[in-house]
Amino acid sequence: MKRLPAHLSLILPLLFISCSGSSKKDSGVTTELTPKIRRFAPVAITADTSRLSPGDRGALAKLIEAASLMDRLYLRQAWTGNEALLRSLEADQSPEGRDRLRFFHINMGPWSDLDDNKAFVPGVPTDRPPQANYYPAELTREEFNTWLAGLPEEEQRQATGFFTVIRRDPAQKLTAIPYSQEYKDLLVPAANLLRDAAALTDNASLRRFLETRAAAFLSNDYYESDVDWMELDSPVEPTIGPYEVYMDGLFNYKAAFEAFIGIRNDQETAKLAKFSTYLQEIENNLPIAPAYRNPSLGALAPIRVIDQVALGGEARAGIQTAAFNLPNDERVVAEKGSKRVMLKNVQEAKFSKILVPIAGLVIDPSQQASIAFEPFFTHILAHELVHGLGPHNIVVKGKKTTVRKAMKEIGSAFEEAKADVAGLFALQYLVDKGVLPRETEAQMYTTFLASTFRSVRFGINEAHGRGIAMIFNYFMQANAYEYNDVTGTFRVNFDRVKEATRILTGEIMMLQAHGDYEGARRLLDTYAVVEGPLQRTLAKLTAIPVDIVPVQSEGN
Ligand code: ZN
Repeated sequence: MKRLPAHLSLILPLLFISCSGSSKKDSGVTTELTPKIRRFAPVAITADTSRLSPGDRGALAKLIEAASLMDRLYLRQAWTGNEALLRSLEADQSPEGRDRLRFFHINMGPWSDLDDNKAFVPGVPTDRPPQANYYPAELTREEFNTWLAGLPEEEQRQATGFFTVIRRDPAQKLTAIPYSQEYKDLLVPAANLLRDAAALTDNASLRRFLETRAAAFLSNDYYESDVDWMELDSPVEPTIGPYEVYMDGLFNYKAAFEAFIGIRNDQETAKLAKFSTYLQEIENNLPIAPAYRNPSLGALAPIRVIDQVALGGEARAGIQTAAFNLPNDERVVAEKGSKRVMLKNVQEAKFSKILVPIAGLVIDPSQQASIAFEPFFTHILAHELVHGLGPHNIVVKGKKTTVRKAMKEIGSAFEEAKADVAGLFALQYLVDKGVLPRETEAQMYTTFLASTFRSVRFGINEAHGRGIAMIFNYFMQANAYEYNDVTGTFRVNFDRVKEATRILTGEIMMLQAHGDYEGARRLLDTYAVVEGPLQRTLAKLTAIPVDIVPVQSEGN
């Protein structure tokens, strides 16, 4: 059995080693790609494995190996030319070649995630092909749909399923091939590693998931293992298999392989359990008319906080995931719900490499000392929990409906704004009750203000950015935030921010309670804007990294 050091410094998978951002490599010749690569701050992601049992440590080593197979699977899924291109990039010792290889590893392919998926290596398609390697390269939606319409029902299900690729047979006829057959050369060893890990762990729920997931790699039936993943209760928390469908640019049918291998964070798990016991009390005290409060909150969707130990496949590509919600299979979601997994050490790395430098530029010097990671992360947890609070099932004009349906296309941005501001409200409630320390108060509001600039940086077309821009401008108008146009910095006005939090929480939730689409749109249109000091301040942030790239730390 391979023993891992107590403090495992990531990241072991094979494809990653040359991404290291060590000073030796950075001092070399710069190329056209160097500024693009520097948008990703290299950072060692570490996790504490000291409390794992010897069996779990052995299982973890096997899972890290299995994660690296997800890299190879994903590269093959992304483009037919990837494996050959990677070999040729590895052989190119020129400065251009080395930068291309580094950027290839960051993006897991020759197209740049941050640059509209444009190619950065000569000789490949200029744009990422929408077919990926899921479909024949020249296949159109029309040809696929015509073929699909002529198939019996079960074959249609296969053709549009998550876990098949579409190929042409020798007669050029389209045919669906299961992943278990298409990727057998990699899925058989991956299944073996999962079984080895299952034999090593002393945790029954982990053993069960690893065994059923290994079986799924070979049978192509993932249902049972998705259910077992929902029921994992284990110090080692792996997510490994085919999951997200974003890379299928034709139909979003086909799932890409990835892995997040993590260790349960016991401190945050305890915090979540503690907060959960106060949720009904917070609901009972929401700043909305009592008739709209829910007298009995249902069971919560599970949330796991883990520290990431290894990544594989799509999880490694481009912008790093800090939280995810799975599975995507609607059958499992209908029966078991879905699980939110939050990667605390990844959040922490993004905080130190991106949010701290942003805060240094945008927050008033007198409040800089309040920028802190723990309250920032606690607010993220609160955000997730309070999604479950407030109105969801509502009655509009005598008809039963849901907030989601009533709010149509603005629903997500509005719900994200709710979770952010009601998250502050909930934490304030816990501070006032003495459940959280008093210093959390100044820290959470100030750090939340700084994080506005990180979120809005990518624009307000996306729900989170739009929601947070709305809160920002609402708070500015309420003088809960103040701008100093001499220093160009912002500060929180603690005399006003609690009241503004309370009022905006109530206003959003009452609009949701009434299913008032027009009112919600007015609020968004008025406040979710980027102009004035916000716009000027965003322009100052161009030199700050956009994301992180996890690297293997020196001497590991
Ligand atoms: Zn959310």
